[in-house]
Amino acid sequence: MGVAIRTIVTDTVAIRCDGCRDIIPGTPWRVNLLDIVSPEVAVGWTESSPINPGPHQFHSDAACVRRWMAEHGYRFCRRGEVREIMRPVALPTDPPSWGLCDGIHRDDHEFVPA
Ligand SMILES: [Zn+2]
Ligand SMILES: [Zn+2]
Repeated sequence: MGVAIRTIVTDTVAIRCDGCRDIIPGTPWRVNLLDIVSPEVAVGWTESSPINPGPHQFHSDAACVRRWMAEHGYRFCRRGEVREIMRPVALPTDPPSWGLCDGIHRDDHEFVPA
């Protein structure tokens, strides 16, 4: 298993965590990103498409999800929590970046580096 294979389509043997990349025993925690509401934000920063909606699979540990967010340059809204469905929010940064929020709180987002 020393070779990283980037294009895994199906892996029926073992599901690996998108955060720490260890094998997930049992049921993975699946996180989906909602469709982007405002697609006019520039694409082409570090990924060819701005957001992969998932589902992304993790251990049942928010730390794994936040590690994955950090690797992808997503920011995390600390007024929300890591949930199974996250809403991407375009951030007015340079270069453009995305924040992820569960979208449940009603006050302003507070995005912090994941
Ligand atoms: Zn993990
Ligand atoms: Zn928020």
